[in-house]
Amino acid sequence: MPYEKATAEQYNAVVIEVERYVRPKTSSQMHRGFPVTKLRLLQPILQDSVFCHHAALSTLSSSGVPSQARVVVCGGGAVGVSVAYQLTEAGWNDVVILEQNIALGGSTVLSAGLMRRLAPSFLATQVLEYTNQGFDAIIKKGYDIGLHRSGSLSLARVSDRFIDLQRQHSAAKAAGFESEMMTPEEVGKKFPYLHTADLYGALWCAKDGFINPELTYAAVLDLAMLNGAKLIQGCLVTGVNVEKGAVKSVDTNLGPIACEYFVNCAGLWSRDVAKSGFRKIRVPVHPCEHQYLVTYPVFPNEDKDYPIIFDMDERMYMRAHNRGILCGGFAVPPKVAFPGRIPPDFSKKMLPEDWDSFQPILERLIQRVPSVHLAEPLKLVNGPEAFTPDGRSVMGESAEVKNYYIAAGMNAKGTAAALGLGRLLADKVTKGSTEFETWELDPRRFLDMHNNRDFVKARIKETSSWVFAINYPYREDTARTARKVRTSPLYSSFKAQGAVFGQFMGYERPLFFVTDQMNALPDLDFFPATFGKPAWHSAVEAEYHACRHGTGLIDLSSFSKFEIKGKKAVEYLQYLCSNDVNVPVGGVVHTGMHNERGGYENDCTVARLQENLFLVVAPTTQQTRCRKWLNRHLPKEGGIGIADVTSSYTVINIIGPLARDLMNNFGDMSQAAFPFFTCQTINIGYASNILAMNITHTGETGWALYIPNEYALYVYECLTKAGKDYSLTLAGHFAMRTLRIERFYAFWGQDIDSTTTPFECGRAFRVKFEKGNFIGRDALLKQQTAGVTRSYVQLLLEDHDMDTDPWPWGGEPIFCNGNFAGRTTTTGYGYTLGQQVCLGFVKNIDPATKTILPLTSDWIQNSKFEVEVAGRRFPAKVNVRSPRLPAVVAFEHPEVVKYVTTQDDETGVKKFVKKMAMEI
Ligand SMILES: Cc1cc2nc3c(=O)[nH]c(=O)nc-3n(C[C@H](O)[C@H](O)[C@H](O)COP(=O)(O)OP(=O)(O)OC[C@H]3O[C@@H](n4cnc5c(N)ncnc54)[C@H](O)[C@@H]3O)c2cc1C
Repeated sequence: MPYEKATAEQYNAVVIEVERYVRPKTSSQMHRGFPVTKLRLLQPILQDSVFCHHAALSTLSSSGVPSQARVVVCGGGAVGVSVAYQLTEAGWNDVVILEQNIALGGSTVLSAGLMRRLAPSFLATQVLEYTNQGFDAIIKKGYDIGLHRSGSLSLARVSDRFIDLQRQHSAAKAAGFESEMMTPEEVGKKFPYLHTADLYGALWCAKDGFINPELTYAAVLDLAMLNGAKLIQGCLVTGVNVEKGAVKSVDTNLGPIACEYFVNCAGLWSRDVAKSGFRKIRVPVHPCEHQYLVTYPVFPNEDKDYPIIFDMDERMYMRAHNRGILCGGFAVPPKVAFPGRIPPDFSKKMLPEDWDSFQPILERLIQRVPSVHLAEPLKLVNGPEAFTPDGRSVMGESAEVKNYYIAAGMNAKGTAAALGLGRLLADKVTKGSTEFETWELDPRRFLDMHNNRDFVKARIKETSSWVFAINYPYREDTARTARKVRTSPLYSSFKAQGAVFGQFMGYERPLFFVTDQMNALPDLDFFPATFGKPAWHSAVEAEYHACRHGTGLIDLSSFSKFEIKGKKAVEYLQYLCSNDVNVPVGGVVHTGMHNERGGYENDCTVARLQENLFLVVAPTTQQTRCRKWLNRHLPKEGGIGIADVTSSYTVINIIGPLARDLMNNFGDMSQAAFPFFTCQTINIGYASNILAMNITHTGETGWALYIPNEYALYVYECLTKAGKDYSLTLAGHFAMRTLRIERFYAFWGQDIDSTTTPFECGRAFRVKFEKGNFIGRDALLKQQTAGVTRSYVQLLLEDHDMDTDPWPWGGEPIFCNGNFAGRTTTTGYGYTLGQQVCLGFVKNIDPATKTILPLTSDWIQNSKFEVEVAGRRFPAKVNVRSPRLPAVVAFEHPEVVKYVTTQDDETGVKKFVKKMAMEI
């Protein structure tokens, strides 16, 4: 008998049952468990969550709001209820969830319920894993959430997809997940109705499957309420009030609520909620249309769970559904939902069916599962789903207001990830930190431009298509929409010289310069549609050699820059920095800024320009984060002024062994007149007030020139004119990256983060305990005594064929004596070493007990290391200090400064500096 569309009466009957069983009233009832047999009878309707209107929730009262609560959560979707649940699990029970309509009525009710445990990044995988653990815990408590661990098959029709899946398989093994690469024949055995002849193979994950999203998150809500959380439906948040920079209260249509914390979990509406307060908060989120088809039964009457299928090359997912099929995807190009205002009453509703957009998916579905052509469509579900400009969720404290948190922008993975995201957020609120670094989700990764509505709408058209895209390296930096928004005054000059740009914090930065031989390709097409040797390899090679053997010019304008001014500037910066910044005027210091755990909140250069004026230069991505850190630690009594001068200066780095000779054209740049780690204001041609710092970020000799924007073009022309005699070559960030990776220099946000300490990454020599108190000092002193359990290493791959093997791109598992020991952070081809170079952290993990054993240099030096790249392990030589690269000393330039390692201990550096002084 065909499965009939349920009537309203049937729904009501179902929800009465659901209310009785899904929502046990007492804890003893709860532990008795859900009557599975009963549920089975309801399953055909319950599984079709779109049609199952959970009246159990609508019966909950909305009788006014409390006058106060510790935490107010805005939004009763999967994310809001998960945040509330995890907060109450952590013992914070005074939590109120405010829902403008009916809980679970937004995107959550429309979800197809697919869940998988593998994601392209380590953090995203952890979020999915936390969610999975949460599902198991809920089931143990007696709830049936419609979980089917039917396994998943991710299909590969093209070879790069296969490599992508192999990379994920490597990561899965390292994380201890069960996964397996399968041949097309094996795929056919798992799902006999699939057409498999065109496949390379697939990745099988046994523990994946699907849930009933509405049942699942009703259970989560129920548990939160049993823990003491309150749900108020029909309650619209209209604004958040702030006092002294922190959340004070929330305004609603039912009255105000005084609170300490506010969490914006408003899904597609989260950007609107963020705009509604006194202070605008950046939540760059907007919905795209997401459709799936549900068919009447088409498969024979078998009681079998078929795996869920991710057919990403065909841009669709599917799963068996009551012997029919559920298949979904996005239009090409994706369609932005609600081009105008998002209606607040869009609850338990769908967008209009769009068969025209779905037609290509349907055609591909019929090719993949030919028997579907016999199936009658039951329903085409079209729902709005919130996307972000970089395809990653927004989770953490807002940049603008203390105790204003955000958990939104789930990019089509919300019901598979909400519980895990809620756990991270609850950890942040209740403990101040999480087990893992969460920078990739942090709201401080945005500037105002990212929150610009037109920018968001333009970019999410692209990021929503990433749901099915191959995870090629640099995808985010080379997005093709909403470009050329933030450019330096030298943009056009670089462009004319063949620059191919990447976008970092919205800023266009030359990545490399196209050589004459490469001119055939349009610029962005140089971008790796490959995991192997990229099209730009030879261009970067030429730039690299210019920087190592002659002179290179690199644009550093996008770096974040802050002026710190005031009588207490020294005291203030000494408290923030672990190095001693109380240097003479003209001194430059490389220092970390740490959190209480000793981890790097920031890694920056501090230049003392005047007695009470400093310039802090931080990584490009730190512009919002660093500003917030600086503001948060301002002395209560005042006396410090901070100005973000990022946009005031164009920064050019002249680097290489001939840099000094070139710069001598503009003044005395000898080591005696202008030593390392110092700065001076110089003239270049007719231009004045150019701040020159004798530093580079790659270990080469060089100067960073901070040029007021109006002089930038002129100074650039002077430099390139003078540079002709020194073969000055334009170099991009890829050359800079490979230079520093080969030198074993760590970069914040790429290698080190808020969980890394200087002892772990070989930078202890920059920590000056003797100078007095600074943030993180106690934790670092403790670690100095106790020792570290992980270490930053450089691994040089052996037996890797750069022309035929997939390259390492970061995130690869590292094995030590055959056991998982860590992951790579950044990687690059070392043009001097002639090898693939990987940086990363290793731990000595006991394979049997998984305990972390003490780390000794013997263990590192005497162990056999391997790096697994796309399923194949490459033996690797390990370095704990920078390798001694052949020195580049031209006879006609005996004063050329040789490379000094940042990984050496303090004595090493002192010896070097002394030697330099003697040479001079
Ligand atoms: C068609 C479709 C299929 C999908 N399939 C899957 C899938 O298979 N697997 C998967 O993991 N994910 C899937 N998703 C994504 C998933 O459904 C979402 O990511 C997830 O439900 C988002 O949850 P949320 O809590 O952030 O948002 P929502 O569920 O939309 O909840 C936000 C809530 O906030 C409330 N709110 C907004 N503004 C206010 C205000 N001012 N005051 C009070 N309340 C307010 C809203 O009313 C709403 O209830 C799918 C999405 C769609 C549309």
